[in-house]
Amino acid sequence: MPKMTPSTLRIGYRYRPGRLAANYDAVVIGSGMGGLTTAAMLSDLGWKVCVLEQHYTAGGYTHTYERNGYEWDVGVHYIGEVGAKTRSRQMFDYLSDGKLEWAPMDEEYDRFYIGDKVFNAKAGKQKFRDNLIRQFPGEEKAIDRYLKLLDKVGKALPAYGMKRVFGFWHYVAMWPYLLMKSSSFLFKNTYDVLSRLTDDQELIAVLCGQWGNMGLPPKQSTFLMHAMIVRHYLHGGYYPVGGSWRIADSIIPKIQAAGGEVFTYARVENIVVENGKVTGVKMKDGHYIACQCVISSAGVGNTFQQLLSANIAEKSGYKQKLKSVEPSFSHLGIYIGLKSTAEELKLPKTNFWIYPNSDYDSAVERFIENQDAPFPVVYISFPSAKDPDYVVRHPGTATIEIVAPAPYQWFEKWRDETWGKRGEDYDAFKAKLGERLMAHLYDKLPELRGKVDYYEVSTPLSTNWFASYQRGELYGLAHTPGRMKQKWLRPKTTIPGLWLTGQDILTCGVTGAMMAGMLTTTSIVGIRKIAPLMKRIYS
Ligand SMILES: Cc1cc2nc3c(=O)[nH]c(=O)nc-3n(C[C@H](O)[C@H](O)[C@H](O)COP(=O)(O)OP(=O)(O)OC[C@H]3O[C@@H](n4cnc5c(N)ncnc54)[C@H](O)[C@@H]3O)c2cc1C
Repeated sequence: MPKMTPSTLRIGYRYRPGRLAANYDAVVIGSGMGGLTTAAMLSDLGWKVCVLEQHYTAGGYTHTYERNGYEWDVGVHYIGEVGAKTRSRQMFDYLSDGKLEWAPMDEEYDRFYIGDKVFNAKAGKQKFRDNLIRQFPGEEKAIDRYLKLLDKVGKALPAYGMKRVFGFWHYVAMWPYLLMKSSSFLFKNTYDVLSRLTDDQELIAVLCGQWGNMGLPPKQSTFLMHAMIVRHYLHGGYYPVGGSWRIADSIIPKIQAAGGEVFTYARVENIVVENGKVTGVKMKDGHYIACQCVISSAGVGNTFQQLLSANIAEKSGYKQKLKSVEPSFSHLGIYIGLKSTAEELKLPKTNFWIYPNSDYDSAVERFIENQDAPFPVVYISFPSAKDPDYVVRHPGTATIEIVAPAPYQWFEKWRDETWGKRGEDYDAFKAKLGERLMAHLYDKLPELRGKVDYYEVSTPLSTNWFASYQRGELYGLAHTPGRMKQKWLRPKTTIPGLWLTGQDILTCGVTGAMMAGMLTTTSIVGIRKIAPLMKRIYS
């Protein structure tokens, strides 16, 4: 096993048929947070698990990559609820054997530029409240009612998660509890719920200032998801010390300790089903890996449209079910390198969210119709400022990342071209979009003009190429009210031996995918077997 160092940033073991063990208890497709969590928990319960990852490095959206001496994360900008002994923090500590450390962001973790006004969110429930009231002095009642609703959602969440695991009889037994914990407003759209609290459109815009974290503006998203995200960051944002690649790097040893492995360059071509039961997977190189249990963390779209034969997807009912959900939006990423440190450049540990105005939904509509309309949201993150270890790994440098939405259709005509060779028209289109986004950075931080050494632009086709999301979707399935109610989005499938995990099962986000991994493990081994492990994790 080669030693992994930050300079290679390639974690996992390169797949070769000869490197496979003889008999795995389970195969996990995809090494994102959902797949790794399931694999690690099963390993702890004595299973030998083989994780197969098509990319050159493990971690899914938590991986990082290096170019020209810089290192960028691709899907982790900040994580909440890890600054104290919360359920999430205990789970991260368990998975990483306490090796994953977290660095707090600034107290002002999010700054919202809405038109020509600036608002922000501050860490800590009381500070969050007081800060909102300072910005909207006439709205104290509405703000307090809003915070109460967030608490209500918090209380409903365990029931929402548990429902995905229960079999029929559990469900019947728990029905009174589930009923008590469910409220009709959970599945209403965010804007409807908020506009019952206040008429102030600017306050609504500030409360929804993080809509990019789940990919849907307030008139399209569900209040449940909105509330989960606001609650998640209420006590501030944190960044993994050493970079987001440390997440997978610190979990993999648990899988290896039980005889399992995480293989990279390992694309699964098909899930093999014989006589109605899963018997293994067929790799892209034609090799067959037999196992009794396959856990797919590759997204439900990929699982039922790409990895299973059309015949089986149809017969098992998933082809029809997929019609009730849609992919989340796709995005552009700008990865920027600077030849001075974050400290020298005075880069903040605060995320910037830049909006043309407070009507987010109309801005999205306009942008989809017209490429030249303003970006409905531009997000800027300063990872090298957030990670105290960055400067040790990459002395004298800093990085910045920009994320903005971009419809997949704009890029579809180049989808069959090879990465890096999509032609001059594609490069020119990318360059134009990149310049528009860089202008936002210089508008907010003009002192950076002339200091940028390098930048590159990723498109939804890059997401498709590296993470295998068919339409370059940012967060798997879109978090619409309809999706959040789908009962079939659960670990157990109707195909014996096939289980699902990852962001499509619960919600997007590293913590969402991690908790999905925990639910999947619970579904597979049963509540009785998981109980002692959960007791250990949450002691
Ligand atoms: C730009 C961006 C910013 C984000 N920012 C944050 C943030 O700040 N905080 C936060 O909490 N969340 C953030 N997220 C969301 C978060 O990263 C994801 O929701 C989460 O990591 C998803 O985990 P997952 O395991 O479900 O899927 P993934 O991480 O996508 O893992 C799925 C894996 O399956 C692999 N795969 C697919 N098909 C196959 C196949 N046939 N064979 C083998 N392997 C296959 C893929 O290569 C991939 O590695 C962000 C996401 C993006 C894209």
